[in-house]
Amino acid sequence: MSIKVTSVSKNYKAQKALSEVSFYADKGQVIGFLGPNGAGKSTMMKILTGFIKPSSGEVFVDEIDVLKNPLEAQKIIGYLPEHNPLYSDMYVREYLQFQAAVFKVDKNEIQACIEKVGLTNEAHKKINQLSKGYQQRVGLAAAILHNPKVLILDEPTTGLDPNQLVEIRELIKELGKDKTVLFSTHIMQEVEAVCDRVIIIKKGKLLIDKKLSELKENNQQIIEVAFDYKLEEQFIKKLPNIVSYKNNYDNTWYITFESDEDMRPTVFDFAQENGLKILSLNTKNKNLETLFREVTV
Ligand code: ADP
Repeated sequence: MSIKVTSVSKNYKAQKALSEVSFYADKGQVIGFLGPNGAGKSTMMKILTGFIKPSSGEVFVDEIDVLKNPLEAQKIIGYLPEHNPLYSDMYVREYLQFQAAVFKVDKNEIQACIEKVGLTNEAHKKINQLSKGYQQRVGLAAAILHNPKVLILDEPTTGLDPNQLVEIRELIKELGKDKTVLFSTHIMQEVEAVCDRVIIIKKGKLLIDKKLSELKENNQQIIEVAFDYKLEEQFIKKLPNIVSYKNNYDNTWYITFESDEDMRPTVFDFAQENGLKILSLNTKNKNLETLFREVTV
């Protein structure tokens, strides 16, 4: 087990940031760590990396007790904090040499790392001369320099342009082949593109911990239907297999069904039987975005 978090709670004085959070992760998994702002993601990451202590609970990284041996744990963890703390007056190579010295990493590793994160053409520049995307790469290079088994990345793609996004995602995916990666993001397409697993927290509590494939496999579908007439809620409830429904300000309904069959013909028949006209009818698979909103709003 690469990461083992058991019943972790954290209070900042009266502010409860985490309460009884537990999860486990195996090697070779990329985990998307999601939650609205203030959910407790950064706090969990700081605890996992040994920078702050929880109020209660246990954290092990690759069998090392992070609370008892934070320095030992940090040797096998790579951490990119939310506000990538770089020494911006240093040259890229110089900064990585400095980091290599801190971690007692062989200097030959630096070039390999520069190539891995795609910094070859920028390595001679000062960090403050680089774009945000390349600065993130420097942060990533510093995080993986000591070849950690576990990577903790706090919003690594924030502020990147679309091309940089794609490149950094590819890199995270590549790194995830032989490391455990836990990374936080607000971009759901990113999670779908990169992650094997999703953990969602809200107000310090763990709400969902599932494989992405399991989340995608659900048999729920959402139908967006507009009638020519404003229907009463009681009427909509007559439809079979309904999980939930929502009415817009106009005559449009968003109805979630649980069924293996396409529910559009049923809605169509329902309209006909009740003398209604359908102005539009669309179906949507329940994607991660919808699920995230459902559980966190
Ligand atoms: P996220 O990373 O999901 O946005 P955080 O872990 O940063 O969430 O914050 C979780 C909660 O803890 C928030 O309510 C935040 O205001 C609070 N918090 C975070 N750090 C501190 C701190 N150093 N002192 C007091 N409260 C804090």
